[in-house]
Amino acid sequence: LGSIERIKAVAQRIKESKDNGNDLVVVVSAMGHTTDQLTQLASEITIHPTLREMDMLLSTGEQVSISLLTMALNELGSPAISLTGTQAGIITESAHGRARIIEIRTERIKNLIDQGKTVVIAGFQGTSLGIGGIAEITTLGRGGSDTSAVAIAASLAAEKCEIYTDVPGVLTTDPRIVKNAQLMKRISCDEMLELASLGAAVLHPRAVEIARNFGITLVVKSSWDKLDGTTLTSNKNLTFSKGGIEHRSPVDGLELVEDQAVVALSNIPDRPGIAAELFESLSDGGVNVDLIIQATHQLNTNDITFTIAEYELNRACAQCEKLINIVGGEISYKKNQSKLSIYGAGIMGRAGIASSLFQTLSDSEINIRLIATSEVKVSCVIDAEFGKKALRNVGEVFKLNNKQITINPIIENKDEPEVRGIALDKDQIQVSVKNVPDQPGTASTICSTLAEKNISLDTIVQSERNHKTKTKTKDISFTLKKNDRSEAKYLLQELLSKWKGSKLEEGNAIVRISAVGSGMPFTKGTAGKIFRALANQKINIEMIATSEIRTTCIISEKYGEK
Ligand code: ASP
Ligand code: MG
Repeated sequence: LGSIERIKAVAQRIKESKDNGNDLVVVVSAMGHTTDQLTQLASEITIHPTLREMDMLLSTGEQVSISLLTMALNELGSPAISLTGTQAGIITESAHGRARIIEIRTERIKNLIDQGKTVVIAGFQGTSLGIGGIAEITTLGRGGSDTSAVAIAASLAAEKCEIYTDVPGVLTTDPRIVKNAQLMKRISCDEMLELASLGAAVLHPRAVEIARNFGITLVVKSSWDKLDGTTLTSNKNLTFSKGGIEHRSPVDGLELVEDQAVVALSNIPDRPGIAAELFESLSDGGVNVDLIIQATHQLNTNDITFTIAEYELNRACAQCEKLINIVGGEISYKKNQSKLSIYGAGIMGRAGIASSLFQTLSDSEINIRLIATSEVKVSCVIDAEFGKKALRNVGEVFKLNNKQITINPIIENKDEPEVRGIALDKDQIQVSVKNVPDQPGTASTICSTLAEKNISLDTIVQSERNHKTKTKTKDISFTLKKNDRSEAKYLLQELLSKWKGSKLEEGNAIVRISAVGSGMPFTKGTAGKIFRALANQKINIEMIATSEIRTTCIISEKYGEK
């Protein structure tokens, strides 16, 4: 809505849709760069404005848009009425500047629709009920209009929610870096969330979380043309009974996959091409690999660990031996393993979820053999004998009911692509804690120490390598946001001083490159192809972490765009 001309064009488009028989609620953002300009004005007065006054200020941007757009609609003879967030009944928590939506009291909106009006609602804002019922204007955080729109769509059980924006939809990768990036026709919300940086450039991630949780069909398209854009699909369909719109527990599922085996290659050379060699040969041998984990290197050697279904163990070992005979290193394996995973939208964005999973396992005296994380999932590999106990205790901690807990889930192969999109994340650093005790509680202590200060770890990798020190020790590597760097380092130093012989290591500057696709679990050889593409460019892989639908490689910053 950058100009009056645009507002008129948008009104025309709304009128056409209305004339085609649709009932419409339209959520708008501020005109052009209004929100930035308002922020600028405030900064000319103070560097510490109160969050309340900032919300008061910024919410005016959307109020300008709703009134002008409504006038334009009425001028075209299309009946419309504007509502602020408060008037529309958008109830949020009271955290100014980053409020989450609790519920939307839709009676007024519904009445107006019944009167044949298009309801134009200010995005990005809501109202908190405040102490003693005193209402306050809140905002949802920058880019929050998307979230307003999807939340309203969910509350009204709308047929769909269309987001009109200035890009044609979701592209397979960043078009500024890759010239032939393609528009995706379809993507699932889970894939979109896993493609974190790529997805966030198009939609507010909280909007995608709501769409996923409530099974809303979301379409992203350009407001400049009439093309179809990208449809985001989701198969979840939660009712409103439990928690608010954005206030449900971030964990909505728990699963245990049994009969897994872990294979570890240790002391293999740390150079480009080794991972490619290994996973190509596994796929040649017909082995479908699940999790892959490589923590930061040790001098000039590496460990690569992966999991497979136990019945594939012999074939996998045979392929590994072929490689080791050529490049050196050792192979070990462990049968009778189970993979326990929690999942839910935005798990990794919320400090404390991963740590309470680890804490629960440690309280249950269960050692975690491997950890693999993605945006929507945290998986731990544990000894099979503890599987059921882990399931019970973790289920209880996250208050999951029987329907949310599955053992050996059968996932359907819907012929989805093995890789749908590629995202490059540049705002992370890599950190390793070395020689930490290999016993229940270590991972949870590390994560909860950081979580207490609201620092969340992104890619957490715990490899198989054990150090033959007096007591058994291990290394854990992870990435975290550049912003959290100094505080995280301080907290970790302090923690590690309690574990004798352990040390903190910050790696070279890195980026994360992630390939995501729902078909990945059903396709052999995807990892091999990804690693080969890197090897062909002589790019060394510093860490590998995977989930079912994502393969993430941490590589040196200088190779990111290449
Ligand atoms: N106007 C707000 C912002 O610029 C909300 C939005 O655009 O979605 O962040
Ligand atoms: Mg915006």
